[in-house]
Amino acid sequence: MSPSSPSPILVADPLAATLRPQAAAVEAAIRRVLASGRYILGPEVEGFEREFAHYLGAGGEAVGVANGTDALELALRAAGVGPGATVATVANTVTATVAAIAATGAQPRLVEIDPVTMTMSPDHLAEVLASERIAAVVPVHLYGQPADIASLAALAERHGAVLVEDGAQAHGATRAGRKLGTWGRFGAFSFYPTKNLGALGDGGLVWCRDAADAARVRALRQYGWTQRYISETTGRNSRLDELQAAVLRVLLPGLDAANARRCAVAERYLAAFAGTPLRLPPRDPGAVYHQFAVRTPRRDALRDHLVAAGVQAAVLYPVPVHRQPGYQQPGTSLPETERACAEVLCLPVHPGLTDDEVERVIGAVQSWRP
Ligand SMILES: *Cc1c(COP(=O)(O)O)cnc(C)c1O
Repeated sequence: MSPSSPSPILVADPLAATLRPQAAAVEAAIRRVLASGRYILGPEVEGFEREFAHYLGAGGEAVGVANGTDALELALRAAGVGPGATVATVANTVTATVAAIAATGAQPRLVEIDPVTMTMSPDHLAEVLASERIAAVVPVHLYGQPADIASLAALAERHGAVLVEDGAQAHGATRAGRKLGTWGRFGAFSFYPTKNLGALGDGGLVWCRDAADAARVRALRQYGWTQRYISETTGRNSRLDELQAAVLRVLLPGLDAANARRCAVAERYLAAFAGTPLRLPPRDPGAVYHQFAVRTPRRDALRDHLVAAGVQAAVLYPVPVHRQPGYQQPGTSLPETERACAEVLCLPVHPGLTDDEVERVIGAVQSWRP
């Protein structure tokens, strides 16, 4: 890097900014776990499960698991989804969403997206539900942007399909005042370090509307045990550990403030880019802007321009899941999804950005001539 080039605006380390003001509390939580001698499924996990369920505000129970992929898989398995079943989701997501469905033995059915929200299209889901037997529907609240969850939930209910929300990018997001992840029978969350609520490693959680489902997920996360050493069903090892739970308990009370900062940055971008040729995310009061995703057919040129200006813009996600070798579906055609993947560019929006950095991002975008 030449001496005159500006220091890069990082998108990669939002957790450091969240942790810095909390360093003493995080260290105290880690010491508490060290002193306790309990490292797996102890009081910190139970405490965090209670506190996160309370935060979601819809009753039910939360069950900590090892990561967000497992949260989706165990929710589906608790709903009885397995080989022979078909599960509807979208292709413009982290591969994890589809990987979790495939891990149950079920067949993923990829549904087209709405071009404005870039989330599952209720119209396309209705077409699929009318012609195929779908056991479960897994909408993704991509970039912290709420899917049309009321319509999707109503469709799933009408066709007897289980609704499992992928809330891995939407901790704290709402629709009509109700938290995303609580609209169906299950909500799945990830605490991967870069998520809106991130741990210091892997972590995940399943929110369950019903206590019986929560008991099933608890058994599935530990070899199918309902009592120690006795497996009632087959299961997995997918436990949240005490250290991660203790850290998450420190960070959860700051989640709303961190989301509010993301929203303030997003508002600034929405205002500043209104006159540009960029296609902007819809203004949604329930969004939590895990990413701020703009669209342009000249995406690669914009990315190169921003990177040269020191702005770390990211292409999330470049290849829809049905075009990835490990999960490819050669017969699947999803033009809106493919267009979104070709056009989308994510600008830095994490809560650690200073006002000055936000203005530098804006200046860099506005100086682009398509
Ligand atoms: C991160 C993420 C996952 C997977 O979570 P992991 O904790 O990495 O397993 C699933 N779906 C979406 C939309 C994600 O962003």
